[in-house]
Amino acid sequence: MPGTELFGAEERKEINDVLETGILFRYNHEAQRNNIWKAREMEAEVCKVVGAKYAHAVSSGSTAIQTALVAAGIGVGDEVIVPPFTYIASVEAVLMIGALPVFAEIDETLCLSAEGIRKAITPNTKAICLVHMCGQMADMDAIFEVVREHDLILVEDAGQAMGASYKGTFTGLLGKTGAYSYDFFKIATAGEGGVFVTNDEQAYKFADSYADHGHDHIGSNRGMEQHPIIGFNYRISELHAAVGLAQTRRVPYLVEKNNEHKKWLMNRLANVPGVGFARIPDPDGDSATFLNLLLPDTESAQAVVAELNAAGVGGFNYWFTNMYHFINQWDHFKEMRTAGKLAVQILGAPQDYANLDLPKSQEVIGRLISFGVRVTWTQTELETLANKLEAAIRKAMAAYTC
Ligand SMILES: *Cc1c(COP(=O)(O)O)cnc(C)c1O
Repeated sequence: MPGTELFGAEERKEINDVLETGILFRYNHEAQRNNIWKAREMEAEVCKVVGAKYAHAVSSGSTAIQTALVAAGIGVGDEVIVPPFTYIASVEAVLMIGALPVFAEIDETLCLSAEGIRKAITPNTKAICLVHMCGQMADMDAIFEVVREHDLILVEDAGQAMGASYKGTFTGLLGKTGAYSYDFFKIATAGEGGVFVTNDEQAYKFADSYADHGHDHIGSNRGMEQHPIIGFNYRISELHAAVGLAQTRRVPYLVEKNNEHKKWLMNRLANVPGVGFARIPDPDGDSATFLNLLLPDTESAQAVVAELNAAGVGGFNYWFTNMYHFINQWDHFKEMRTAGKLAVQILGAPQDYANLDLPKSQEVIGRLISFGVRVTWTQTELETLANKLEAAIRKAMAAYTC
């Protein structure tokens, strides 16, 4: 993943600015901080890179999603449609605010499908927590149609898709509110961190207060102002924001390079027997952090993964590993061994969580093999990788078909 690949003098410079003032807190201390405000600068840079009106940096992608849900007006007892393929944080965020997750099917885009969403809608459905997975984006025109038809609130978990876009609009800004992650495995990293984005002024003001115990931040002296709402501490530190700022500046370059490498690999592998690709609804808007192969079925995917592992090439399937991104690995959730079970216990589960029937999602995830795309690959490295990939896939498919 690119964020950790390009890391150097630019990040050190921003951190040193903060260390020289000794002010690690994003608010107050105006006299001592020598006009160094890294969280603010990071937010301005995010707005510039993704064309958002408002951004608010927080402590993680997870807290950014929770903030995005609450700022969009979602709360206790609201049904929120979620995908069964996402990092668990999207589901946790819904539970943490007392809302009820309702699982719908994904499709070959690796994201919730409009058809899946339509089938999961009940009279209590309030919102969709749409997750753009593996650097790609959901099929938005079809999803916008369902959102309009049923008057739903669209919240985006773009934790894995910062810098991806759909027909010119960046993920995170396709709905009412959105969230990016800056954890260590994302396109840009701050170590830990996240950013809430929106074009809606009210939602922004809410998020700005919510992520800091409800302080309204009006006037220069935080702590002596009004507290219109209850919130919590989801603040980012100036040190993390300093790294996040330098990394955000790199995002356009990272996306461009990823695309070059992913497109080259896709062209190169297109005619290898058994190889298909996850559908990219807007190929020009891919953030391209992952190359996502779809094999004919679960068995052939498993055979290919085994061959890739034997050849030391990398590449993984979210089903056959213990990675935490697919509902098959979420027994704790199914059994409600969770801190967020209160609403579910009081209000009743909207679905039989222990026995969810999601055959399309099972089929797609069973067939998926993902590879992290690297920004720093040279042409020689790309060619070596492609040759190894092709050989491993051909070998597995030949054994599999006879
Ligand atoms: C990484 C990730 C998160 C969580 O972000 P953190 O910064 O680790 O809290 C949420 N959703 C998705 C889709 C992610 O990939």
